[in-house]
Amino acid sequence: MTLMTSDLSDAIGFGPLPKDWYTVRAVEIQDETSNKTQAPMLALTLMVETGEYAKKRVFPPYRVMLGGVTEKGEKQRTDRVCELINATNVEWKCNGCGASGVRKFVKNDQQKYLCPDCMQVTKFSYDTDHFRDKVFRALLSQEKGFNSEEMVNSVARVAPLS
Ligand SMILES: [Zn+2]
Repeated sequence: MTLMTSDLSDAIGFGPLPKDWYTVRAVEIQDETSNKTQAPMLALTLMVETGEYAKKRVFPPYRVMLGGVTEKGEKQRTDRVCELINATNVEWKCNGCGASGVRKFVKNDQQKYLCPDCMQVTKFSYDTDHFRDKVFRALLSQEKGFNSEEMVNSVARVAPLS
């Protein structure tokens, strides 16, 4: 027998976080590919930064599609990575006009994202490592887990801190 002392303040509670906006940090990031389509995606493990749920990790990781095609063969939407770049101020390069740096995508009347320099719908490049440790806001919702009746969190929207 070993007499152990553990800390109840580290027992942060099971189950999903209530639906709300949270300040979160991307404490781990992982490049992944879809098993079915090989589409590239980024998995961000989010941890709550502030408030009563501070230090609690959001489960499952937030997975953002970066390109490729869906199972139906349609092109993956990239709105989510644009939204994430705008929320995290990660630098990116426009492959159309060549402008680079920390800039926010702008939206046109159809809510499509455009390069703010050339105002075109273009391809864009970025380093996924740069999302690590970024702090931003995330609107969490809840959904049934994969192959499970248990509720888990999902990220509905992300936004910059201020
Ligand atoms: Zn451009």
